[in-house]
Amino acid sequence: MLRVVLTIDCERFISFDQGNPRWKKIEKIKGQINKLIKNFRYNKEGFELTYKTLLNEKFPSTFMITGKTFKPIKGPNFIEWGYHTLNHLPLTLIAEEQLKKEVKNVYNLKSFTAPMWMIEDISNPLRIFRLLKKEKYTHCVYRGGNSGIKHFHYNTVKKSFKKEGITCVHVSNFFEGNWSNKKIKNLKEDILSNLRSEGVYLLTTHDFTHKNTKNLLEIIKFLKRLEKVKKVKMFKLRDIK
Ligand SMILES: [Zn+2]
Repeated sequence: MLRVVLTIDCERFISFDQGNPRWKKIEKIKGQINKLIKNFRYNKEGFELTYKTLLNEKFPSTFMITGKTFKPIKGPNFIEWGYHTLNHLPLTLIAEEQLKKEVKNVYNLKSFTAPMWMIEDISNPLRIFRLLKKEKYTHCVYRGGNSGIKHFHYNTVKKSFKKEGITCVHVSNFFEGNWSNKKIKNLKEDILSNLRSEGVYLLTTHDFTHKNTKNLLEIIKFLKRLEKVKKVKMFKLRDIK
């Protein structure tokens, strides 16, 4: 049975102001345009929408909150709160003092995901994992290493693995609320092609791309159908062994 984890990175529009350190000229221009049309293309209340939907559907999920904007909400056990740093900065590029502030475990959470998946720079690969351990996180999302602003990120389905005692789960795929039917169909096919895997399928999305619940509900219903026939089992990130 394939183990599936759904994580939602909650950051509202914070990344539109920040851009991405790895962007080149063209991507920066695209970023500027995206920023201008963000209110049309995206949803500032995407968190409220996705949270309500997952709550209603009683669907196990891990909400990764940016501390500057969000606090954990008391609620049912099938929802986990994880941390997506304080200010959504690129962790592998910032100095020690700031890094400590960014990952400080103020809400005593177990799971962590780094902005833009920048968690492991080849110059000092374990630096952030060591700090996570110190802050008593137990789980983290992983998508490959970085070298300065360059990255070697990729998707895969594999068993969890440890770095400095932190259980890492590799990103398998992601989807967004504003994706086309075609892309959602491809995602479903990818999940189906991995049903026999002994690894963990970590599926991730962003709060702000969900203008409506169409794609989210479609994926939830799809996974629920597979769970009913014992092809998949949903987990919160912190429950992955
Ligand atoms: Zn993010």
